[in-house]
Amino acid sequence: MKGKVYLVGGGPGDPELLTLKATKILARANIVLHDALVSREVLALAAAGAELIDVGKRCGRKLLTQEEINALLVSYATSHEVVVRLKGGDPLLFGRAGEEITALREAGVEFEIVPGITAAFGAAAAAGFSLTDRRVASQVLFTTIQRDTDNRSIQWGGISSTTTLVLYMPGTDYARVMEQLRDAGWPDDMPCAIVSHASGKDQEIRSTVLAKLGDEATLPAPAIMVVGRVVAEVAEEISREFRIGPEIAGRTSHPMVI
Ligand code: SAH
Repeated sequence: MKGKVYLVGGGPGDPELLTLKATKILARANIVLHDALVSREVLALAAAGAELIDVGKRCGRKLLTQEEINALLVSYATSHEVVVRLKGGDPLLFGRAGEEITALREAGVEFEIVPGITAAFGAAAAAGFSLTDRRVASQVLFTTIQRDTDNRSIQWGGISSTTTLVLYMPGTDYARVMEQLRDAGWPDDMPCAIVSHASGKDQEIRSTVLAKLGDEATLPAPAIMVVGRVVAEVAEEISREFRIGPEIAGRTSHPMVI
């Protein structure tokens, strides 16, 4: 084996949210296999001569199967020194990294994992609430409803009134999400925030309550939902004046709608 594979977190969008390690590895990359989620600004940090391959999925259309991606990683490691598998957010959260790690291990390929800022943290920072605000929350659950292929309610064991729920891949049917949350026992007045393109140029934030979630206009993907009392703690304040930092001044900002 000639090379090493780096499973790198590309963060939520803003290239300044990449780790120093990720930036350095990208600058040495010979080849970068990236997801559709990875922003153009982050891809621009790859070495000038690096080959960029989009292995992501768009609108449900798979460009490559997971097995093909695994095989590509193993095969590129025989011909390239620095192979970067670049994923949005953190590589180990909802990123199919488990299957890639197994394939690399089985093929005896050297690899290293470089964590990134996951969408949940990008969204919380954008909206200005603490996911574990001790006044109202004691735990956080990172989950998704997309795995529910047979249309049953997902069993979220261990949720309570002090759980903050972060829903990755909420999809476009917010009414369905609302029903699933209600089925799981969440009350109608539970605050929900939807954050689209967290940390990116097109960032948008909406805040509502569970009973009205189905009435919200769908925000552009990628979007993430945060459900819990922590949203309410600051929602009113943010709705009055949604401040953006000077470094992103000039980008579009949208006030929260309560
Ligand atoms: N590994 C990624 C998650 C991949 S699953 C991470 O750690 O963030 C893809 C889902 O992540 C999207 O459907 C969306 O729910 C969320 N997501 C990724 N980037 C996002 C962003 N910039 N803003 C809002 N949600 C994002």
